[in-house]
Amino acid sequence: MTCYWGKLMKYFNNEQISRTCSFKDKDFELSYLTQSYSKFKHTMVPLFSIAFVLLIFFSIPDYIYKNSVFQSNLELRIFAAFLCITFYFIFGKLKNFLSYLFTINAVEISFIIIYLLMISNYSDMNYVIKCMDIIILISIYFAFPNKWLNSTLSTLALMSSFFIFSAINAARFTQDNNFASGSVYILIAFVLTAFNSYRANYHARAQFYKTTVLKKLINTDTLTGAFTRAKFNEDIKNHIFLSKQTGRRFSITIFDIDNFKHFNDTYGHIEGDNVLTGIAEAIITNKRSKDILIRWGGEEFVILFPSTTLSAAVKITERLRQIIATADFNLGEHITCSFGVTEFQSHDTPVSLLGRADNHLYEAKARGKNRVVSDIQFDYLNN
Ligand code: GH3
Ligand code: MG
Ligand code: MG
Repeated sequence: MTCYWGKLMKYFNNEQISRTCSFKDKDFELSYLTQSYSKFKHTMVPLFSIAFVLLIFFSIPDYIYKNSVFQSNLELRIFAAFLCITFYFIFGKLKNFLSYLFTINAVEISFIIIYLLMISNYSDMNYVIKCMDIIILISIYFAFPNKWLNSTLSTLALMSSFFIFSAINAARFTQDNNFASGSVYILIAFVLTAFNSYRANYHARAQFYKTTVLKKLINTDTLTGAFTRAKFNEDIKNHIFLSKQTGRRFSITIFDIDNFKHFNDTYGHIEGDNVLTGIAEAIITNKRSKDILIRWGGEEFVILFPSTTLSAAVKITERLRQIIATADFNLGEHITCSFGVTEFQSHDTPVSLLGRADNHLYEAKARGKNRVVSDIQFDYLNN
């Protein structure tokens, strides 16, 4: 018993996840919901078109029985079908999670209202069948990727409005009007679904947290805070793909610290490490936000300049070269770097692109270090 209780309590004592089952960190919650929404968009949004077809299909008997002794829900069903197809198009267009959150809650509330209007049209109905409607609606509401608290609140609104409606309109339920047992079944279905949804939400968030932390570890160099080669390998493939699709140009720079062996030998490896961190910091603070700094290995770095032509990349690189060459690393002497810059060509592979930049870097070293060499020699480079 204690063990089971302990397992249960672990859900409520998590450092990252709050008791209402969302991340305590708002940005984390937003990125979690955004990724679960983008999955939902591809798998569940087509269900709106299926709901549309079903509602139209169920309108046929309503149309046939219209003006007969049966009460018809034709207008309401067509309105619901219209709502489904509208949401189908709206969901396809939504860009961020906040607009999705707003829309999904609007969907849930509008369907509660439509459902209540529909049952209020019937003069004679079977209470057990209506209870099954509610149980199915509860499981549909919990299936949407929504905050657990939101799903619970909208389901509670659905149930309580149904209970109130049933109490006021008891006379309409002419068959099997066993209200107590129907209400208990609905409550049991609600508690079980809410509990399972809580567990599923909790574990999906815990998994997301672990994956994000691991990804960060794999993608970030612990010494310098720059990205790693693993991240570069991912990014470069995406940039080459994008460039081939859209013709968007991009460039890269590879650079190596000059005479670093000498600094290590003179001041020790700890000071050497501080220089590496200092240089990475200087680049990170002075590069444009979209540029990506990668520690290529040892004291070599790569900078990826998205949507940047060769001449723009050379200008930025030259500025960075000057910043490093004039920075004070508390060693009593200045540190310099040599740079090789190249722009992506349509026939390039990652290897050929880096190979060309590396050749330019070798040339920069051969021509006296502390300089920028690129595919074309630009006049403003003083070498
Ligand atoms: P060059 O101007 O031709 O580049 O000369 P260099 O002395 O910099 O030569 P090279 O690039 O071959 O030297 C690499 C040195 O970088 C050797 C190694 O001790 C040092 N190094 C590589 N990684 C690290 C590191 O993580 N920390 C420290 N402190 N030193 C490193
Ligand atoms: Mg070096
Ligand atoms: Mg080197």
